[in-house]
Amino acid sequence: MGKTTAVSARHPLRLASDPASVFRPEVRAPGSALVDTFGRVHTNLRVSVTDRCNLRCTYCMPEDVAFLPRAELLTFEEIARVVRVAAGLGVDKVRLTGGEPLVRRELHTLVRMIAAVPGITDLGLTTNGLLLAGRADALFAAGLRRLNVSLDTLDPGRFRELTRRDGLPAVLAGLAAAKRAGFGPIKVNAVAVRGFAEHDIVPLARYCREHGFELRFIEYMPIGADPWERDKVVPADEILDRIGRAVGDLVPAGGDAASPSADYDYADGGGRVGVIASVTRPFCGACNRLRLTADGKVRNCLFALDEADARALLRSGAADADLAALIREAVRAKWAGHGFNAADFVKPDRTMHAIGG
Ligand code: SAM
Ligand code: SF4
Repeated sequence: MGKTTAVSARHPLRLASDPASVFRPEVRAPGSALVDTFGRVHTNLRVSVTDRCNLRCTYCMPEDVAFLPRAELLTFEEIARVVRVAAGLGVDKVRLTGGEPLVRRELHTLVRMIAAVPGITDLGLTTNGLLLAGRADALFAAGLRRLNVSLDTLDPGRFRELTRRDGLPAVLAGLAAAKRAGFGPIKVNAVAVRGFAEHDIVPLARYCREHGFELRFIEYMPIGADPWERDKVVPADEILDRIGRAVGDLVPAGGDAASPSADYDYADGGGRVGVIASVTRPFCGACNRLRLTADGKVRNCLFALDEADARALLRSGAADADLAALIREAVRAKWAGHGFNAADFVKPDRTMHAIGG
């Protein structure tokens, strides 16, 4: 586990050598509440509600994994309090994630609590979809509208290889139930790992186009348990090229400068495809995100080595102002970029499932 301090410190050479540290002027607003030393304004909080999961994706976690004791997880009330304080500092967008968020019982209750926080205008959930068919209606009724479902393949054998479990029919049923419940947009997230994605890019693109889902490919990042090799990354350009040739011409969609996704529309109006190209087109210069782990640590980056202990404050009777100061300081201490394109990159101790993707 990383140190639980509020201040991140990384060798400055890493910052200088990191091609991610190219800043886009439109995100600089030094007067805003959650602003780092590079002028990036933070309005987007990703909240992990559990580190547990009902899959064991090879790129995300080890097969034999020890999950946190339940008492270490933040309660719904504690999570909602952090969200309230963050909203007071300018956060308006929250995404619930994990681990697998739907393994947390009564998640719709938390959705309702967060949806009611003044200032939160955008609430989303990222799920592997396995339990979605039985939960979609309750989540929608609680106020959730934006849904990302992770699905890397439509082939049951490759699904099992990638996730170390069966479950493809349940995920497809979950997607269908979400559509019936009225969710929109529904995005399908796929991690593109060399040796797998080549077979799945085109079938996934056809499936999403047919069903009205927005497909987003994520370049494989060094945050799982397996040793990461650059050769296993399928670059965004290759993904777009394969879809353009086999499914339909794509044109840039423009859009939100702070979004990690570069979006493309089918020229014939058949839908949208996005690529999250953290490796080949780093977007750290426009990053507006911070994270709360399931055990209550505030992280200013997926790849941060340090984290700030909000749970200790929450359980010590501290005032909201103390919590706000911790969040502000965590943001202020953010590095220029994730650094994994630099030679001195150090992988965080936590793997993806324990941070919150
Ligand atoms: N369990 C939920 C799910 O899979 O959607 C939410 C948590 S999961 C950690 C969030 C996202 O992170 C998923 O879309 C997953 O595919 C992605 N992810 C996990 N490990 C990754 C890696 N090494 N590189 C890129 N994306 C990764
Ligand atoms: Fe679980 Fe999501 Fe990680 Fe897969 S990517 S192991 S579904 S947390």
